[in-house]
Amino acid sequence: MPELIPVLKKNDINNMVAQVARRISSDYQDHELILIGVLKGAFVFLSDLMRHLSIPVQVDFVRVASYGSDTSSSGRINLTKAIEIDVKNKDILVVEDIVDTGLTLSYIIDYLKSFNPKTVRVCVLLDKRERRQAKVKIDYACHEVTEGFLVGYGLDYNEGYRDLPEIYHLQF
Ligand code: 5GP
Repeated sequence: MPELIPVLKKNDINNMVAQVARRISSDYQDHELILIGVLKGAFVFLSDLMRHLSIPVQVDFVRVASYGSDTSSSGRINLTKAIEIDVKNKDILVVEDIVDTGLTLSYIIDYLKSFNPKTVRVCVLLDKRERRQAKVKIDYACHEVTEGFLVGYGLDYNEGYRDLPEIYHLQF
């Protein structure tokens, strides 16, 4: 059985989400903001984030499949759920659980730009900056991580562990 090593406690996560929500609420005052969550991993972060915002938002989701090993993506990405809201001339904030190589977010940003939104920015809970392959600007990152495979708070390993309220390093 892999071991779960604690990385972020409930309180840490709550403080990070509250802090980033304050920045986003201030940056998007008087804008029509649409949050686009990346399924499945980001749904927990997105649901906490939207409840910390002090501005009204609309919410939609995309889902992509990326083919690779259990713990890293290959860069071969397919869209499996399209957006349903009209985002033309709107401000979009992509909400993602974790950015690693950046290949997934780079694909999603290109996809969203094809609908001619006014702006597309990115908010991630966790940023594995050291492993980046694609050039992608992360506008809001709550926490930087250097190594390891993380689970909990929406993040899975083979569909398990998403339900854990805290974030752990899964040691094999
Ligand atoms: P990227 O395309 O940036 O390499 O990978 C992004 C996706 O890979 C994330 O949406 C997530 O699904 C997955 N991923 C990357 N690192 C981790 C990790 O440490 N834990 C989990 N559970 N998923 C990860």
